[in-house]
Amino acid sequence: MTATTASRVLVLNSGSSSVKYQLLDMATGTRLAVGLVERIGEETSALSHHPLVTGGAKREWEGEIADHDAALKAVAEELDSDGLGLDSPELAAIGHRVVHGGLRFTEPTLIDDAVLKEIERLVPVAPLHNPANITGIRTAQRLRPDLPQVAVFDTAFHSSMPEHAARYAIDVRTADEHRIRRYGFHGTSHAYVSRKTAELLGRDPSEVNVIVLHLGNGASASAVAGGRCVDTSMGLTPLEGLVMGTRSGDIDPAVVFHLGRVAGMDMQEVDELLNKRSGLVGLCGDNDMREIRRRIDEGDETARLAFEIYIHRLKKYIGGYYAVLGRVDAVVFTAGVGENAAPVREAAIAGLEEFGLAVDKDLNAVRGDGARLISPEYARVKVAVVPTDEELEIAEQTYALVTAD
Ligand code: AMP
Repeated sequence: MTATTASRVLVLNSGSSSVKYQLLDMATGTRLAVGLVERIGEETSALSHHPLVTGGAKREWEGEIADHDAALKAVAEELDSDGLGLDSPELAAIGHRVVHGGLRFTEPTLIDDAVLKEIERLVPVAPLHNPANITGIRTAQRLRPDLPQVAVFDTAFHSSMPEHAARYAIDVRTADEHRIRRYGFHGTSHAYVSRKTAELLGRDPSEVNVIVLHLGNGASASAVAGGRCVDTSMGLTPLEGLVMGTRSGDIDPAVVFHLGRVAGMDMQEVDELLNKRSGLVGLCGDNDMREIRRRIDEGDETARLAFEIYIHRLKKYIGGYYAVLGRVDAVVFTAGVGENAAPVREAAIAGLEEFGLAVDKDLNAVRGDGARLISPEYARVKVAVVPTDEELEIAEQTYALVTAD
């Protein structure tokens, strides 16, 4: 690929009714603008745009944005008015977050027609996400047909999982015919955070074994050995694994048959129950950890039980991944809950002293936005908080691809 002097990358994360974006300058490592378009297709669509380099204030407005085309045009206008327009020769590429890359995409990939077709072929395994990602790509292509567009896949980092971790114990022919296996998600975050953890420990990623706990509204754990993912908690879809904001995580699959037989629910209703009305929200009516902690402080037993179920599952994954890795150098917390909720970190590590794990109460209580250790000096296995930055990771992977010789 030809080298380029342009150094800006626009990162687009297109959801079904939203587009999150960031414009970064890879030469200087600065974030130039960030923003979000929400409720696309509704009368009350909203755009929030924050130029970061021009010293401008955050701009927000509401009004109908009919589709992704209109959303991206609105974003382009906002950037243009800050002198950061998409027609600038400074723009090197657009990096797209694509949720499902299946078995085919294990690296960031330059998008052409064949790649786009392949991403479309994966829609049956990612019906909620890939269609929106495809729409975002097509829209960006129309806006800047000449510009390299790169897909960075949420599943890619997990493609190194060995077969014994990736396969479900079901009939092999059925699994292969329908591409049923564990793919894992949040891969961009697990890749970034595990690498940053090695940096924090002052060691090379290839020497370090870490358990990454990405605890946001969606949540996943991964076991990373020497920089490579060897297991992760999400599976064919992001429903498997930890207790999440609205998703159940692990469950006996027979619950699904039972709900069909006994409660007369159809597939769609069960899907909606497990993805949207379960997890913390299903257990106690709230999915925001701040609200749950507030209720616990007021003596709310329902909120307390929801918290305990959340922590119990987390502990099972920490223990399980400890056994998978054999030797662990660090357990690291990231994303909205992991970075901010000290009580979650304390409770998840409590009682694991025999594993060499401990949390220092004072260090854990310090609020900060940088990567930091929260374990006491004596702890054999470090406990860390490392803020995730999926957009930066997507931008770096995109830029590395378009500037490679
Ligand atoms: P994310 O999906 O990574 O944006 O995380 C969103 C979640 O982080 C929210 O639903 C909250 O549960 C949690 N969260 C955000 N800020 C805090 C905070 N200060 N304390 C506890 N939890 C928080």
